[in-house]
Amino acid sequence: MNSIKKESHIKIYIQTDIEGVAGYCFCEHKDPKMENVQHCHRMYRLLTDEVNAAVKACFDSGADEVLVNDSHGSGYNIIFENLDPRCRIIHGRNCSGPHWLPLLDASCDALVLVGMHAMGETPNAIVPHSKWKVNGGKIYLSEGSMAAAIAGDHGVPTVFVSGDDKIIAEIKGKIPGIETAEVKKALSVYQACSVIPARACEMIYSRVKNGIGRRSEIKPFHIPGPIKLNLLDAPGHIDLKELLPKDVEAPTVDQAFMEFERRMSWNCFGTSKLDGFVFP
Ligand SMILES: [Zn+2]
Repeated sequence: MNSIKKESHIKIYIQTDIEGVAGYCFCEHKDPKMENVQHCHRMYRLLTDEVNAAVKACFDSGADEVLVNDSHGSGYNIIFENLDPRCRIIHGRNCSGPHWLPLLDASCDALVLVGMHAMGETPNAIVPHSKWKVNGGKIYLSEGSMAAAIAGDHGVPTVFVSGDDKIIAEIKGKIPGIETAEVKKALSVYQACSVIPARACEMIYSRVKNGIGRRSEIKPFHIPGPIKLNLLDAPGHIDLKELLPKDVEAPTVDQAFMEFERRMSWNCFGTSKLDGFVFP
């Protein structure tokens, strides 16, 4: 890491997902009725407000640059025309990108996680999915802690996480001192007792600010390599479990994760071809 650069230019990376947003219990649904589309758009607005609260907190803490990664599903969830114009957003078809976390590198001063969900197989968590088994089960990672581990490979500390009580408990156990906003208690996979969105945004704003201010006290979450990776619960692809790569090995978490993603048949990381695919 270059400490001289870090004194003069503070850059924060915000990784986002939607399942951990206050008010969210489900979004995509098998029911094609119009009311479900409206429900999804309502969830996108709630996500956008929470992301905006985090962005404002970063700038109010002295950040010079804030990158937001719209990472759920299609990669087009955040209503970016409503975002604080000081930040920039990474969006579009996220599986066509160079990386799951594009532009996250050692030039970032901190990672902030907004709207995270629990790992697959977690009881009574809102829409739990993705469970990464690392080195034969020495450690298990959710999408949130995977992002933190990838940041950790670059020496970047993860200073904040928001989501339900289950993901907060997991991440707190792995990253001592991390700031958290528990915006809902999950009661089942599709039911929660949630704080009201305006309150969630207040919590996110104040705790992201604390996290950025305390970033030098929070250690990067680093898992030493070599790494062997398996995915125990793939979102929406349970029936394709047999097709998942197995025992993917690499020197670091970042390399193992991206190698795993590249080997999954439905991903197209690094593609340079247009395929005519249109997201619904
Ligand atoms: Zn998601």
